[in-house]
Amino acid sequence: MYIRVSEIPGGGLDVFASRGKASILRVLEGMDPAPLRELRLLDADLLLTVEKGDLWIEGSFEARGEGFCDRCSDPVTLRLGKAFQTILTPKSRDRAPAASVELHEEDLDVGYYDGSGVDTNDILWEQVALEIPLKVVCSEACRGICPVCGKNRNLEACSCVAGDAPGPFEILKSLKGKKE
Ligand SMILES: [Zn+2]
Ligand SMILES: [Zn+2]
Repeated sequence: MYIRVSEIPGGGLDVFASRGKASILRVLEGMDPAPLRELRLLDADLLLTVEKGDLWIEGSFEARGEGFCDRCSDPVTLRLGKAFQTILTPKSRDRAPAASVELHEEDLDVGYYDGSGVDTNDILWEQVALEIPLKVVCSEACRGICPVCGKNRNLEACSCVAGDAPGPFEILKSLKGKKE
């Protein structure tokens, strides 16, 4: 949904309170959540405020993702969410962002916009995308599928000698064993 800077009142615009919570469901429409199979926004908050042409964005989201474990292929459900604060300064402006930005620089994301308005879906998607893991695993301890016999090694141990060379973890373990 596109919001013009001129539409934002002095006290700020609570986007979903004023445009309806139902629009939250459509925020991620058309976005590719890979490596997740599906990603839905459960809740979101977005407050826009304008100060001397700079756009202050304060928000949070909660999302539920579905995917398959990269190692064992089991279905995985995960929750994503965070609170964020961003300030966008008009791209065309020749000067540095307002002094107030510099005061907050350390804990703020600073970006640019065209000076006339922003797409709230893009803003949220940018934040959500940062939270999507590069790889989906059911658990950090997942042993995965044996590449030799195809058994799920989380359920059943097998005695296959996988591959040609031992993995780095096995090497580390044997080194440790020698020391002791
Ligand atoms: Zn797994
Ligand atoms: Zn095996």
